[in-house]
Amino acid sequence: MILSIESSCDDSAIAITEIATKKLIFHKKISQEIEHSVYGGVVPELAARLHAEALPKILEDCKPYFKTLKAVAVTSSPGLTVTLIEGVVMAKAISIALNIPIIGVNHLVGHIYSLFIEKEAIFPLTVLLVSGGHTQVMEVKSLDNIKTVAKSMDDSFGESFDKVAKMMHLGYPGGPLIQELAKDGDRKKYNFTVPLHQSPLIAFSYSGLKNSVRLAVEKAEESDYKDIAASFEHIATAHIIQKLKRYFKEATPKNFAIVGGASANLYLREQIEKLLALYGAKLLLSELKYCSDNAAMIGRVALEMYKKEMFSSLDELKVCPKSVI
Ligand code: ATP
Ligand code: FE
Repeated sequence: MILSIESSCDDSAIAITEIATKKLIFHKKISQEIEHSVYGGVVPELAARLHAEALPKILEDCKPYFKTLKAVAVTSSPGLTVTLIEGVVMAKAISIALNIPIIGVNHLVGHIYSLFIEKEAIFPLTVLLVSGGHTQVMEVKSLDNIKTVAKSMDDSFGESFDKVAKMMHLGYPGGPLIQELAKDGDRKKYNFTVPLHQSPLIAFSYSGLKNSVRLAVEKAEESDYKDIAASFEHIATAHIIQKLKRYFKEATPKNFAIVGGASANLYLREQIEKLLALYGAKLLLSELKYCSDNAAMIGRVALEMYKKEMFSSLDELKVCPKSVI
């Protein structure tokens, strides 16, 4: 079995995955959403402190499996340096104590493999990652053949939801809160501009839209917030659809997946489903509980890396806040 640890942002999670069957034997996550909610976003130092409390608590429940562990895996990039360190230090200690190899996993590859928890992987696959830190399209042929074909030039899709929620004093994380508010709103009431709509670039940008929403919020009454939320969600999604359409002209996928915390967004799912129907492409989604950060997806990647003996030495394994993908 492989024990995997995730602490790249505000979720402390540990999973245990059986190597031969891919079965998830154990998975526990302690989220810090309530603690960060008052600040309208993740406070790195607070997050690190909470990981230092939560991870050992979860690890205690893993004790019965210690004898069966063949490797320990941990998210080592990308994420917040101070929170990644919490997981990596714990993984190194486990590796030393149990004399088992250590595997450093890229969190974004983890989000891709969240599609395949307890399942076989399907490639080739075009993946849209929409999360708190990333908005990018990747062509995935295998574990070590991932090409990013489009990414955000500034804020991410999920982050823009968090910031709009903060402007409206709704709390954190903003995605589910804005989605809920938008349900009863008029998507056409606010005519925000679709980012980069005149640009031939296949890239994303959310900072301009965020600022337009800020101006609208400043002028609005609280009763208008639902229409602002609905119009914002509509334009944020329309931007993705426009760029995907452009990209599909060059490369139409057979299999298309949406992953990452914001892939839980129902309006985005609906619009992408409509788009894919035009091309006869199949939509793959992670189970809702594995869209946001979790250690099961890190364990699923670690299975592949274990088979290929992609181990790190204790000296080599360092945290890196930016991703190389
Ligand atoms: P990254 O994976 O890029 O390092 P992260 O791990 O912080 O970032 P995730 O946990 O994958 O991000 O996703 C969290 C983000 O998803 C938050 O920004 C949150 O607001 C957003 N999100 C969650 N649910 C929804 C939703 N229904 N609609 C829109 N956004 C959502
Ligand atoms: Fe994530």
